[in-house]
Amino acid sequence: MLPTSLLRRGSPLSGPQHQLALLNSLILPQGNFAETLGQPLTPARLEIFQINIGKLCNMTCRHCHVDSAPDRLVENMDRATVDLCLEALDQTTAHTVDITGGAPEMNPNFRYLVDQCVQRGKQVIDRCNLTILLAPHYEDLPEWFAARGVEVVCSLPHYQERETDSQRGDGTYNKSITALQRLNSAGYGQGDPQRRLTLMANPTGTGLSGSQACMEKEWQAALLNNYGVTFDRLIALNNMPISRHLEWLAQAGHLQQYMELLVNRFNPATVSGLMCRNTLSISWDGRVFDCDFNQMLDLETQGQGAEGLHLRDFNPRLLADRQIRTDRHCFGCTAGSGSSCGGAIK
Ligand code: SF4
Ligand code: SF4
Repeated sequence: MLPTSLLRRGSPLSGPQHQLALLNSLILPQGNFAETLGQPLTPARLEIFQINIGKLCNMTCRHCHVDSAPDRLVENMDRATVDLCLEALDQTTAHTVDITGGAPEMNPNFRYLVDQCVQRGKQVIDRCNLTILLAPHYEDLPEWFAARGVEVVCSLPHYQERETDSQRGDGTYNKSITALQRLNSAGYGQGDPQRRLTLMANPTGTGLSGSQACMEKEWQAALLNNYGVTFDRLIALNNMPISRHLEWLAQAGHLQQYMELLVNRFNPATVSGLMCRNTLSISWDGRVFDCDFNQMLDLETQGQGAEGLHLRDFNPRLLADRQIRTDRHCFGCTAGSGSSCGGAIK
């Protein structure tokens, strides 16, 4: 695990403009995402309202695209902004509220937000790093989630200790297994749609994610045989070349090769299912973005009346007419089987 965030270390890559400049400084044939698409990327019907409730986290993983860490104490959504989220949500067709961070559970308004969304009949997803479930003040969460039918989407890069700890820090794997066992004890991961336990895997090296279906079988067998742990489904994501993963790629001398891989493995069949088409992403301070990655790169929404939109001026009709902003990082979503918060696309 890294000692602190890019921001705390004063790294130039804590600035989104530096990240975009680095990506665009690479010589990549066919490396213009908009030209590769050949047509504007536009929204479909809004299904998922994703809220990045803050950057505070109990961990400092090497590949984090949010630059989250225990030192990110400032960027956390306050109650007034949570209420703006709910007002905006009520204007949309979204059936799902996807709460992410950081470790979203650490935000003092997290439980209020979950309860409000459940009361509205929304499917609620908590993106959980697992280790937080063992920390003081959070140990009741498995039962608390179960009582509300919250889907828990847990990051576990690999079912083997060495791979997971190399990316997330020593001791993470064992804590994660204990947390999964607690979720199982609360009824999660046994086929009950009201107690859905999803694992989210990502490569620990410089490759793309493997076949999601094959990985699911492999993860299921290994976790069951070794620890008696069960889960409902596995989703497989590519690592995005932004923030701390970008830093790691650049420092290890892998950046050029990784971006060539993403560009060369562009899969046009993934475009219609890109998550930016059915999702909106809200930042801790109430700004609206096309996706969590654009949010981290400070690429605000564009389009008439939707320019740099804040929740205060939320207007789903104007957002539906916008064009989604893209840049080179988008090749991470279209490579191979594609990658989104829901896993592989095709
Ligand atoms: S990857 Fe997740 S658990 Fe790790 S530092 Fe980032 S937000 Fe926290
Ligand atoms: S990063 Fe991915 S989800 Fe976000 S705008 Fe680009 S293609 Fe869409």
